Amino acid sequence: MKLSYWEYKTWLSHIDFTIVGSGIVGLNCALQLRAKYPEAKILVLEKGILPQGASTKNAGFACFGSISEILSDLKTHTEEEVYELVEKRWKGIHLLRENLGDKEIGFKNWGGHEVFTEQQEVLFTECLEQIAATNSFLNPIFKGDAFKVHSNTFDFKKVQEEYITNVFESQIDTGKMMSQLLLRAQSSGVILLNSIEVEHFEDLENHVVVKTNEFEFRTKKLIIATNGFGAALLEEEVKPARAQVLITKPIKNLKIKGTFHLDEGYYYFRNIDNRILFGGGRNLDFKAEETSAFGETPLVQNKLEQLLKELILPDYDFEIAYSWSGIMGVGPQKRPIIKQVSNRVYCGIRMGGMGIAIGSIIGKELADLV
Ligand SMILES: Cc1cc2nc3c(=O)[nH]c(=O)nc-3n(C[C@H](O)[C@H](O)[C@H](O)COP(=O)(O)OP(=O)(O)OC[C@H]3O[C@@H](n4cnc5c(N)ncnc54)[C@H](O)[C@@H]3O)c2cc1C
Repeated sequence: MKLSYWEYKTWLSHIDFTIVGSGIVGLNCALQLRAKYPEAKILVLEKGILPQGASTKNAGFACFGSISEILSDLKTHTEEEVYELVEKRWKGIHLLRENLGDKEIGFKNWGGHEVFTEQQEVLFTECLEQIAATNSFLNPIFKGDAFKVHSNTFDFKKVQEEYITNVFESQIDTGKMMSQLLLRAQSSGVILLNSIEVEHFEDLENHVVVKTNEFEFRTKKLIIATNGFGAALLEEEVKPARAQVLITKPIKNLKIKGTFHLDEGYYYFRNIDNRILFGGGRNLDFKAEETSAFGETPLVQNKLEQLLKELILPDYDFEIAYSWSGIMGVGPQKRPIIKQVSNRVYCGIRMGGMGIAIGSIIGKELADLV
């Protein structure tokens, strides 16, 4: 299809900033650019009919790292790096709340619990022993003790009789957050075009030429916020990681409330609308889940159902309503990649499993970089 003079003139000419990807990072970047440059023409291109990566698919944990995650990170990252990452997550959640408002994102501070299986006695003991030291390490961030022991009040089975709880961990309604971001971007005059996939770009002296599945155009600056799909356009160390999720139908008298990390974070669940949302199981077949193709597998879905029946909901009658998947961006280091790629091209990718926590800050950092 050929575009008309009007279409080019109105939507695709004299563009100051083009952002690829309308996830939490891309939309926050657009809003920050709008605040800095009220007159700028800002275009967001999204290949999905909705944002179609991780931002509309996730579990909505406003989390800063469970105790076993922090202890494990300390084995592969420096103390400074781990501290910085927790701080970024903490500040990121604050920025998200400040920007959009608690009501608009369904923010609930119901606490986050790490649940250890019967087999994880050694890890559980190690984590228990490290509570005081971890609290003091992170005290300057939280200004209080984050971790404490919590008895198994939700009656999970085949698990250690206590959880280690982060009292500051919270949950949000992912759908509400994304619809707010889209609404605010649109009402601030940011142009959002869906079903447009950027296939190629060329950074020339005075502009960037962008080729999409539908048209080609010029932009003064290009910002790539495609996270797990980053490797398709950039030569950066980012790999896709699919994460599968299911949700139950509403359950009568459901008492479980909060966010939960199980088996070193390989599984995670929470309550939402009298249902349990449950995800994880990538560790069952890392290779198969290293893909940017959406989809669910019997291996993972059956395991999720089994854990629900045996550990999480043994005392409840429940049915699975449906399941889905999302694509994360991961790499050898947990730290996201935020950088200038060439003269007029920038990227903010590789958010791992913490983009809800850090996405608002990364969007801001990207806008400050441009
Ligand atoms: C199942 C699941 C559970 C999660 N749970 C949590 C959680 O509880 N807490 C937390 O903090 N994080 C969680 N995450 C991670 C979090 O969702 C992500 O880190 C975050 O959403 C990444 O945001 P983003 O904007 O960088 O990327 P995305 O949301 O993936 O956005 C990138 C966008 O770019 C688009 N795109 C890609 N390539 C192109 C192209 N060539 N042209 C045009 N558009 C393109 C994609 O369609 C996509 O919409 C979870 C992720 C998943 C999948």
